[in-house]
Amino acid sequence: MHKAVYPGTFDPVTYGHLDIIARAAKQFDEVVVGVLCNSQKTPLFSAEERVNILKEVTKDIGNVTVLMFDGLSVDFVKKCHASVIIRGLRANTDFEYELQMAQTNRVLAPDIDTMFFVTSLKYSFLSSTTAKEVASYGENLSKFVPPYVAELLRDRFLAKREDT
Ligand code: ADP
Repeated sequence: MHKAVYPGTFDPVTYGHLDIIARAAKQFDEVVVGVLCNSQKTPLFSAEERVNILKEVTKDIGNVTVLMFDGLSVDFVKKCHASVIIRGLRANTDFEYELQMAQTNRVLAPDIDTMFFVTSLKYSFLSSTTAKEVASYGENLSKFVPPYVAELLRDRFLAKREDT
């Protein structure tokens, strides 16, 4: 069984992440999307919400499962009985960080390799941060995230505005 793990924050999942998930699902028997819950960042959506959102938007891809984890990615990968970490690369700015992470992970777990998927050109500008920024101004999100996620983002920012 050729299994890979795609770890990340996914706050929230964008079309860029989904593109990587769909492409990875064609290359591996199973792809586990790992949602990090102890991130240093303060997420807009809780880990449970991020898992549920990912489950909803990947429900038509048969060989994708979504799980929550905390701690080191390599420990999660071992727990999943996988040997590959998938990450996405958009630009030079991703590269330095991703290279350092991949090398650190290889020192921690030499049997686990990181494989990079290069972003599709049309999603190269896209990040969860930009999607949230656009959502905070109430703008159209149709080029950033699936309709289900756009609605949740709209609701979340409306609720925030009502709080202030
Ligand atoms: P993390 O906090 O672990 O970086 P993210 O959810 O921001 O989590 O990203 C998870 C992975 O997806 C990273 O490898 C990131 O480079 C990649 N990624 C994010 N957006 C895109 C995109 N538009 N195209 C390709 N890869 C992407």
